[in-house]
Amino acid sequence: MLTDYHLHLRPDDLDARARDHFTEDNIARYRAVADERGIAELGVSEHVYRFEQALDVWRHPFWQENARDDLDAYCEFVRSRSDLRLGIEADFVPGGEDRMANLLDERDFDYVLGSIHFLREDSIDMDDYSVWDRGHSPQEIWRRYFQTLAEAARSGLFDILAHPDLVKIWSPADPTNPERPRPEGDPRRYYEPAIEAIAEAGIAVEVSTSGLRKPVRELYPAESFLEMCVDAGAPIALSSDAHRPEDVGADYVQALELLDRVGIGELCVFERRTRRLEPIGAVVG
Ligand SMILES: [Zn+2]
Ligand SMILES: [Zn+2]
Repeated sequence: MLTDYHLHLRPDDLDARARDHFTEDNIARYRAVADERGIAELGVSEHVYRFEQALDVWRHPFWQENARDDLDAYCEFVRSRSDLRLGIEADFVPGGEDRMANLLDERDFDYVLGSIHFLREDSIDMDDYSVWDRGHSPQEIWRRYFQTLAEAARSGLFDILAHPDLVKIWSPADPTNPERPRPEGDPRRYYEPAIEAIAEAGIAVEVSTSGLRKPVRELYPAESFLEMCVDAGAPIALSSDAHRPEDVGADYVQALELLDRVGIGELCVFERRTRRLEPIGAVVG
């Protein structure tokens, strides 16, 4: 069985409003593409920072600009008007662990994706607030990123670590963007602290096709990172991080080839924050 657990029902633009996208018609469009691509299990995971309640956790200016919708209305809509699993993409906010735990524990999510989009106040994947404009070396940014990923894994807040090597987003292996390069040499030395934490925490790790749609044009995570996860016994969740219906299950052929190469034959399925593994099985198309 195939899953797509990292779905957004709308683009990240501020003008993509909840009332236009949290609709049964829109979900039907996502479901139609999933059916075509043989994906049975879907879950929605809107960004936590688009909800007013997130400001109880963190008050970064980007969050203040985005926090417009009601989290409980989202949960209620997904539970009562859809057959999607109810998830959320929650940022790891160092120092805000207790406040984030309260926000998450008060709602009956099926699963929580943990993401690192910021290193302290600085963004990894946006031009605004960019950590890449602060004069740090790529080595320093990568080191801090994977240390933060390790903290996120150990925090106990999350069921799945989303796009686990997001820090590579701007840097194709064939370097065409020298402004935001990846560090030279074997990246595994950066991965190690995160893998150790993943092994200890028993958290699932996401394989995401969204990197193929970013400047890096690679799956998240790198094959060597995924091999280390397999050695550490980490269960794997499969997702597209689609923000529009046509990207549901996008490029799953490539993701499935990667999973097969590293010897993964089962995917995580979640219900009310309980995890089980289902065989990928024969895949159509
Ligand atoms: Zn994300
Ligand atoms: Zn996402």
